[in-house]
Amino acid sequence: MSFPYQLKTTADYKAAYEKSVQDPEGFWSEIASHFTWRKKWDTVLNWDFKKPTIEWFKGGKLNITENCIDRHLEKLGNKPAIIWEPNDPGEHHRVITYRDLHHKVVQFANVLRNNGVKKGDRVCIYMGMVPELAIAVLAAARIGAIHSVIFGGFSAQSIADRLQDAKAEFIVTCDGAYRGNKEIPLKSVIDDALVQCPFVKRVIVLTRTRTPISMIKGRDLWWEDEIRLVETQGSPDCPAEEMDAEDMLFILYTSGSTGKPKGVVHTVGGYMVYTNYSFVNVFQYQPGDVHFCTADIGWITGHSYIVYGPLSAGATSLMFEGVPTWPDAGRFWEIVDKYKVNILYTAPTAIRSLMGFGLEPLKNRDLSSLRVLGTVGEPINEEAWAWYDENIGKKKCPIVDTWWQTETGGILISNIAGVTPAKPTFATLPLPGVQPILVDENGKEVEGNGVSGNLCIKFPWPGMLRTTYGDHERARQNYFATYENLYFTGDGCLRDEDGNYRITGRVDDVLNVSGHRIGTAEVENAINMHTGVVESAVVGYPHDIKGQGIYAYVIFQGHQGDDELTRKDIMSTVSRIIGPIAKPDKIQFVSGLPKTRSGKIMRRILRKIAEGETSNLGDTSTLLDPGVVDEIKNGKL
Ligand code: ATP
Ligand code: MG
Repeated sequence: MSFPYQLKTTADYKAAYEKSVQDPEGFWSEIASHFTWRKKWDTVLNWDFKKPTIEWFKGGKLNITENCIDRHLEKLGNKPAIIWEPNDPGEHHRVITYRDLHHKVVQFANVLRNNGVKKGDRVCIYMGMVPELAIAVLAAARIGAIHSVIFGGFSAQSIADRLQDAKAEFIVTCDGAYRGNKEIPLKSVIDDALVQCPFVKRVIVLTRTRTPISMIKGRDLWWEDEIRLVETQGSPDCPAEEMDAEDMLFILYTSGSTGKPKGVVHTVGGYMVYTNYSFVNVFQYQPGDVHFCTADIGWITGHSYIVYGPLSAGATSLMFEGVPTWPDAGRFWEIVDKYKVNILYTAPTAIRSLMGFGLEPLKNRDLSSLRVLGTVGEPINEEAWAWYDENIGKKKCPIVDTWWQTETGGILISNIAGVTPAKPTFATLPLPGVQPILVDENGKEVEGNGVSGNLCIKFPWPGMLRTTYGDHERARQNYFATYENLYFTGDGCLRDEDGNYRITGRVDDVLNVSGHRIGTAEVENAINMHTGVVESAVVGYPHDIKGQGIYAYVIFQGHQGDDELTRKDIMSTVSRIIGPIAKPDKIQFVSGLPKTRSGKIMRRILRKIAEGETSNLGDTSTLLDPGVVDEIKNGKL
């Protein structure tokens, strides 16, 4: 495949950006014309952020799987679409070519149809990172069902909440999943969830761990049996359902670091065009590249940059079942070496954790295939950026710091690898088609450079969310009601003298200390500069004099001896870097931080503990390790 819309120089970027603002409809329809449509759209864009209504390519007819699979068959049929690396390095890896993928998706699409799944039905997918997860996602999309992937680590209660919200009658799962040295009993978790979801009609179970499970007659079926049935029926194809560009493609519940999960809805046409465009450009994908995104498909990053972006571009997407630190902390580097990975896309939290193991795990690993590195999910601190640059990229690979959200569908602000300059800790510039604006609390635009404010977007882009499932008003309230005619991201942001954007964290993570507004991320960055600090999290708590005081939770390496001295030392580091105003009032040493399964710190819990409200911490079931909460609670200062 060739990509006439791939930006190759800074001048290309500038010209594309200019055009995308002057003539957004012309800009996006040109890009969309490079996809396979059964019928061309009637209108490029209808929008009204007040309602909100956002429609891209309305009236256009297509199926996203024809764009991700069928259209590649002729030229790329024998090319690997998915390379799968199992959790256990001793187990055989799998290579699935585009032709294999077509075969498998068609088969499973027929399984779904046999089981009564129709266009518009919600199919919940709760699996480990096995190729069949991607196959199930694509099979649902092929028949026009709406997939809702739930990360294979969520608790029964979280699943039940999501199933009820989506009114999903169909589930695809595995007997169990492997993650590092753990085995997760997926099917039994589903069984627990379904006690509260009697409306579920079918559970299709893939064999993975061979752990004993119970199968309920009439409801539960084995994936393998169903495939065999389809084979005997002898239907080698499954014609793709014709979808309108604005039909729903999927619902994805956000990680919930700020409260009750929201079912973010994306539609077929705009999402496809946007994930492809951002994939091809930000990572500067070259035909033949092996792309390794370390996210789980249970998160938006996996949806957009393991499945839809890469596959729509005919790329080879590497899927990894395990975790970066098992059997040892060299796992990523072993994979990069083994498959000659060209693009590595991971999260700052993973980089920081691997940094802690030093350089030993990198020994004898050939990373010379790497050309582009990326990060996503949270602001990256300077130290982690430099470590990634030096030790992984060997100072030869551009690092793209990609800012985006579940709601944005794809990357909105990022440098373009090797095309536009990187600036450590800055996401830098908006992609073509993205019009950021900073506003103050009253919604007044903050103009010029060298300023900060709340980050909003003032014009639609094709990949943006359309609604929150079953509750359009919630989408309006959450994203479009804070500031008139703007999409509000919830993130705070700084724009430097050159117009580069730096995300400073969520707006509700901004502290007001004696009238000074200080981002928690800023304070954390400063704390992390202290040599002994592994990681930190900062929250505010009510303070009689200052309004808000600064409470810091700090993981300190090789911590021993004099806490008071270390505290003083950390405080003076912060003083030196930001100023005395940002000095933490309290520092509590902890062994871990409460993180969501996507690696984000759940500040809402830390805030409650700092405020002394330890009795009502809310839902902690989405935490990776709920145990750390007790430790932190008991050690409260
Ligand atoms: P919820 O909305 O349910 O609280 P969440 O916001 O953590 O969950 P995501 O959509 O996965 O769910 O995360 C998007 C958020 O992650 C962004 O709003 C931003 O705060 C943060 N983020 C993502 N990428 C970056 C980045 N490159 N730099 C800084 N922050 C980032
Ligand atoms: Mg969010």
